[in-house]
Amino acid sequence: MPIHLLSSEVASQIAAGEVIERPASVVKELMENALDASAKNVAISIAEAGRKLIEVADDGSGIASDELALAVSRHATSKLSRADDLFHISTLGFRGEALASIGSVSRMTITSKIEKSKAGAKIRVEGGREGKVESIGAPTGTVVRVEDLFYNVPARLKFLKTDVTERRAIDALVARYALAYPNVRFRLSEDNSITLQTSGDGDRRAILAALYGVESAKQLLEVNAEEENIKCSGYVSAIALTRSNRKDITFFINGRWVQDTPLTTALIQAYHTLLMVGRYPMGAVFIEIAPEEVDVNVHPAKAEVRFRNQDKVFGFVQRAVRRGLLAYSPVPTVAPSLWGTRSESSQQVGLDWTIAHDDSAESRELGFGNRESGIDQPSNIETTTFNKVPLLRLIGQIGATYLVAEGPDGLYLIDQHAAHERVLFEKLMAQHDQKKIPSQSLLTPAVVTLPPQSAKALESQLSVLGQFGFEVEEFGTNTFQVRSMPSLFSGSNPSVALRAIVEDFEEDESPLQNEIEKKLAARVCKRMAVKGGQTLSAEEQRALLLDLERCDSPRTCPHGRPTMIHLSVEMLERQFGRKGAR
Ligand code: ADP
Ligand code: MG
Repeated sequence: MPIHLLSSEVASQIAAGEVIERPASVVKELMENALDASAKNVAISIAEAGRKLIEVADDGSGIASDELALAVSRHATSKLSRADDLFHISTLGFRGEALASIGSVSRMTITSKIEKSKAGAKIRVEGGREGKVESIGAPTGTVVRVEDLFYNVPARLKFLKTDVTERRAIDALVARYALAYPNVRFRLSEDNSITLQTSGDGDRRAILAALYGVESAKQLLEVNAEEENIKCSGYVSAIALTRSNRKDITFFINGRWVQDTPLTTALIQAYHTLLMVGRYPMGAVFIEIAPEEVDVNVHPAKAEVRFRNQDKVFGFVQRAVRRGLLAYSPVPTVAPSLWGTRSESSQQVGLDWTIAHDDSAESRELGFGNRESGIDQPSNIETTTFNKVPLLRLIGQIGATYLVAEGPDGLYLIDQHAAHERVLFEKLMAQHDQKKIPSQSLLTPAVVTLPPQSAKALESQLSVLGQFGFEVEEFGTNTFQVRSMPSLFSGSNPSVALRAIVEDFEEDESPLQNEIEKKLAARVCKRMAVKGGQTLSAEEQRALLLDLERCDSPRTCPHGRPTMIHLSVEMLERQFGRKGAR
């Protein structure tokens, strides 16, 4: 075939392919236009998962009749004029190609009116062919009606997923925008029934409930932080609320939903040592940052952005989330169902992860305070105390694996291994943070030979190890000599410690040095902690409890498993039928 220029129709269909992938992409572009036009109400109607019809009506500023034809042409926008403007974009759109793209792959009708004009106007575009602009009566605002999406690109149609999937994508999109713009009223109706409606009164909690369900929404913690030029707000899940994937982590940057962002990793890392391996948090986090700090022009569907200073934004988000988390991480309580019906489900041995909420946590602290000091109920309790455990009275050890203790609010079963892991981890990290890990020289240095992969990984981390009190030297091919180790682990086997450190070095992909260090510390502590099945003397048991009480996050091991189960007085009373009985 000789080289020839593509017809404008084909060219625009190709271009449209980048922006308009599926019905949800149309909804996104139209919704963004409505928001850019400062709409207070956005109503979206869908028929047959968007294949037949997508209509977005808004009460925004509207398009002037004499600009309507321009609005549907490619590279026509009111939001940017010089390339330079790209770096201070404060609108969601800027490329001027959405309407042109949608018009080239559907039958699109736009009706619009601006405030100061008496009549509105209407234009129809079919497969890229523009009709005439007609005058028509209309309220101020814009209605874009998109029928028969992809009717002229059958190949695209074949790539669409089932109606259920396409509809779910639309639902997720609208719900997230509703959450990001709580002051705008959104209404989504699908095949003539309303599936989502928000009040526009600014209350995000209500929208969270619509998005995640009431129970989950209740367990979301608020995040709020501000530094110069950057602000972060939103909600993240308490440690007891997890998912098996990262799909429920949403980021908005300057009002724009971005996906697949490395920020997701930053958020997950904020939970490091608090969640079980393979479990992910949920979160909806909104970042406001000076427009010149982000490049929004890096992705065809504008679903990704780049930061000028990525590490700074990362660290900021991570600290903000971490702070929100540590302020409140409750203990799992045993659900009564554990003792009643056993058959229910095999998951989690009946641990009730829907946690004792504020009320019980609060009364626990209050009750305790009263008993100890006889003071009146303090009016404002530091939320950080929720995270701590009360003073515990040791009762003993069972099965050479668990400690049994009494607190002011009931019985505690403590996993000695998990608890010891937590204790060692916090001690080690505290010493590390102060840059003085007491180290003990070994009388006979331990010599360890590692598989080549691990040896390579270890080589690159020798200095980090040094900071942790491990003096390790290369000692021939793939062989190392441990000359000293942290006093915290004195008496333990140095080669076991070293092997624990390199165990899964290779798969470490943390971009942040301090995360590498934490992981490393967590790994060593796991190996060095007392095991289940190991009988402890009364002295050792007491010391462990005491150490645990002093921890900042005593309720989980560094890998996120619970260190303790709490049987509350109230629950015991209920189980024994004492409650209410007189
Ligand atoms: P962009 O949003 O990148 O500017 P679009 O193709 O989405 O490009 O829209 C082109 C132009 O049409 C916009 O710049 C805006 O001026 C106008 N427009 C589109 N939709 C609306 C709307 N709902 N309300 C007001 N103006 C709109
Ligand atoms: Mg747009």
